[in-house]
Amino acid sequence: MARDPKYDILFEQVAFGPKTTRNRFWQTSHCTGYGSDRPGTQARFRGMKAEGGWAVVCTEFCSIHPESDEYPWHSARLWDEGDVVNLRHMCDEVHRHRSLAGVQLWYNGMHSPCLESREVPRGPSGLPSNVFPERCIYDAVADEDDIRAIIQMYVLAAQRAEQAGFDLVEVSGSDSTLPMQFLERRYNRRTDRYGGSLANRARFYIEVMAALKRAVGDRLAVTTRFETDTINGEHRIQHFDEGLHFVELMHAEGVCDLWAVKIGDYEEWGEDAGSSRFRKANWMRPFVSHVKSIVGANVPVVSNGRFTSPDDMVAALRAGQCDLIGAARPSIADPFLPTKISEGRVEDIRECIGCNICVSRMQQQALLSCTQNPTSGEEYRRGWHPEQFEPAADPCSVLVVGAGPAGMECAMVLGKRGYTVHLRDQASELGGHWRDVARYPRCAEYGRLISYRQIQLKKLRNVEVHLGVPAMTADEVLQYGADKVVIATGAHWATDGLGAELHRPIAGADAARAEVLTPEQVMAGKPVPGEKVAVLDGDGYFTGVSMAELLADQGKSVTLVTNMNMITEFAKYTMEMPNNKRMLHEKGMRILTNHWAHSFDPGRLRLFYLYRDSAGLYEVEPGRWGRRGSDELIDLECDALVLVTSRVPNGALYAQLKARHAEWQRHGVLAVYRIGDCHAPRQALNAIFDGHRLAREFESPHPQHPLPFIRERQIWGHATVPQRCNPGPAIEPV
Ligand code: ADP
Ligand code: SF4
Repeated sequence: MARDPKYDILFEQVAFGPKTTRNRFWQTSHCTGYGSDRPGTQARFRGMKAEGGWAVVCTEFCSIHPESDEYPWHSARLWDEGDVVNLRHMCDEVHRHRSLAGVQLWYNGMHSPCLESREVPRGPSGLPSNVFPERCIYDAVADEDDIRAIIQMYVLAAQRAEQAGFDLVEVSGSDSTLPMQFLERRYNRRTDRYGGSLANRARFYIEVMAALKRAVGDRLAVTTRFETDTINGEHRIQHFDEGLHFVELMHAEGVCDLWAVKIGDYEEWGEDAGSSRFRKANWMRPFVSHVKSIVGANVPVVSNGRFTSPDDMVAALRAGQCDLIGAARPSIADPFLPTKISEGRVEDIRECIGCNICVSRMQQQALLSCTQNPTSGEEYRRGWHPEQFEPAADPCSVLVVGAGPAGMECAMVLGKRGYTVHLRDQASELGGHWRDVARYPRCAEYGRLISYRQIQLKKLRNVEVHLGVPAMTADEVLQYGADKVVIATGAHWATDGLGAELHRPIAGADAARAEVLTPEQVMAGKPVPGEKVAVLDGDGYFTGVSMAELLADQGKSVTLVTNMNMITEFAKYTMEMPNNKRMLHEKGMRILTNHWAHSFDPGRLRLFYLYRDSAGLYEVEPGRWGRRGSDELIDLECDALVLVTSRVPNGALYAQLKARHAEWQRHGVLAVYRIGDCHAPRQALNAIFDGHRLAREFESPHPQHPLPFIRERQIWGHATVPQRCNPGPAIEPV
């Protein structure tokens, strides 16, 4: 289909510094965990976005020197020639598709743990890090020689970036990095010409930019990523008090070729990577839209906002908010988003659901993965392309039982590969447990996970979807006539309080009773008796907090109880923790952490504190527990109890089929596999990955078991770069 002309504006070129983009799609710097250490993964991941039409593709934060080391979080690095070689591969991949490659130069000052390098970071004032308050991290106060040395580090890194082939260097003036540490009143306590007035506090940032312009600016674009409001109150950067004034100051110096603007600092990263539970598309607009009027027509502005709709993008451009559409997550969920708009295939866009699982992977010091796009991060190590599927050499017929995330994904990929697929579910709609999830408070955008697959399945003539069928039995599966069977029957919430804390049921917590409910029962409309409700959360992600909010909104008095150190503990990885806490506080919910349930009787939930036992031990004695115990209990008035304790696989159908293995041949069944939560209940991204992987590897000798993937690590006996004690170029004050 031809592109709708109203989207033509998205495909116009934009000039900045010595460079010109081929369209208005800008893949903002974003973390991956691939860094410079996994050059193949990095290059293919970023290259895929260039192939999909993103005109500019940037790295994640890229450390300029060992003084700025956030190990075990993996950044890109430009410390030495080895990093140049590894990142050059990324630049080559990006250039192969006519896009520009950008690198974000990052020096983190007082927030650098330096756990790998063991160096001492420098900063404006020698203060403890508020990002890692428990780790005893301080910066050393930089005198003017130090400041010149750090600026030289930026210059050397930019020169390495040029050697690697990058087209632009973006100074990270965001996420509380060193330029912001000089700029913000809370960090900058200096009394010299780098402290005090805004102009003085801005001096370091501007000098860095000016030095880069001098060193590489005629060949590379010199840009910055800046937060116009840290959303963190006075003494920090606020939009109107200093955010915009700083833009005026820097712009007047003529040292910045392009501004990528955002909000939220390191602590409030969740306001930049706003999750869909709290922030809707283009939520930053009021905070960033004034920048364009300051920098004028010749200096482009990039604005982010989880843009997945081309109409929203066009509206932002036409309103003068920005010149380029910045995107991290939408480009992860769909590297081919620009191409799909360009080809008039908007309905094929795999829209980001705003779950922040991608962020959570980095925050767990792991590798980026995506809920919507199971191929992200697998482009190199498994050779997966998000839009290309190897046709099956000998397509057979496949029955997929269960149309939840795993079953839908598996059926879709098998269908794209040419198999004849029947996807069957007893429910009358697609989506499995995710249909409930998408109806939780704030979770409506999660429904895109279903709608994307629904649209794709509809387009596949070789895939039939049978909904509302009677629950399939082992007999029916064997007699169905399919060559191969995939079981994707999912999981259900435990109905007896079984959870990770005790690994056993809780006395009285039986969801057959009127006063005890599982999330499925709540969503199915089982009445919640009384006023006082406790939600027992042993899951730690969004279900517990969603149940609590749902019931609070119905006027219940809610207590959220968890065995974990924090409520919604996993949300510390998705950056939703602060707003979860604010929401719970705002809605007057009570929170109890480090507690678990001993027993439940209508009217009373008995709890115990996890650390109620003594710190001391008894002498070792046969038959006696070594720790001096306590049986202290706390009673909570509670009319109804919602159990978000653990999930239990619906594994019976697979087990029955396996037990009848001897009959498979008679029925013409060649194989039976299981995927998703019926195999082991995990987060949705894993169920989708499971279904996708099985379908990709359907002809492997043992499809139930993944094929090996490429592991990027040093192989013993090969040279290291740099060699020990090689000093490299001197960092002299400039
Ligand atoms: P996953 O996350 O692994 O995809 P879900 O729990 O979301 O799993 O989905 C499982 C789906 O399987 C549900 O929609 C459920 O209705 C369906 N299902 C479970 N058992 C059967 C069965 N025996 N026959 C048909 N559908 C089934
Ligand atoms: Fe979007 Fe979630 Fe994928 Fe991240 S993991 S890109 S938030 S869908």
